[in-house]
Amino acid sequence: MTYIVALTGGIGSGKSTVALAFSDLGVPVIDADIIARQVVAAGSPALAQIAARHGAQILNADGTLHRAALREIIFASPAEKTWLNNLLHPLIQQETQHQLSQVTQPYALWVVPLLVENGLTERADRVLVVDLPPDLQLERTLARDGVSRQQAENILAAQATREQRLACADDIIDNSEPAETLAPRVAALHRHYLELAALKQD
Ligand code: ATP
Repeated sequence: MTYIVALTGGIGSGKSTVALAFSDLGVPVIDADIIARQVVAAGSPALAQIAARHGAQILNADGTLHRAALREIIFASPAEKTWLNNLLHPLIQQETQHQLSQVTQPYALWVVPLLVENGLTERADRVLVVDLPPDLQLERTLARDGVSRQQAENILAAQATREQRLACADDIIDNSEPAETLAPRVAALHRHYLELAALKQD
């Protein structure tokens, strides 16, 4: 199995930006958010099971998942939230393992926004945290998204704290620096990860 570097960080911290810089160096990027969407794609067995349980109300007219409707159901019922997690977690894990098994490069970047919150740090060989002070996280999130300040603050408050995340970090990217300074810092980490991956294979 390839060496796994998990990339995490809070909302608006710069995970996608950093992941792109690794991808530019030819590193395969495996995105936990994309996998979570793939397992409930239109026509998937998991979506059929969810529809069998909750009815057509959780489907859009085009057969895709009506996320807001499902969110309301699990918000109102912890039991339904557990049912859904029990259905999806094994599928997400299976798909993640599958994608990792396809990797032929020495290491892969596994982008997991909720790595710390979901207790997944042990699944990675190395944890890279994109770090930003909360005020800058808010500023960049508000500049990028259509979300309100209140929504952004709520999301931030529901995530792990900066300290909790940093406590899990093997490496840290300080993303308060200008974006133009990222490429050389990512290149240095890349060289380090190639060395660590080679050591693991020995
Ligand atoms: P989310 O988890 O909310 O999807 P993210 O962690 O993937 O966010 P990005 O989308 O990469 O974060 O970055 C958030 C915003 O900040 C984007 O608009 C991005 O262009 C900008 N940004 C990223 N890095 C920097 C930087 N070093 N300086 C200034 N702006 C930056």
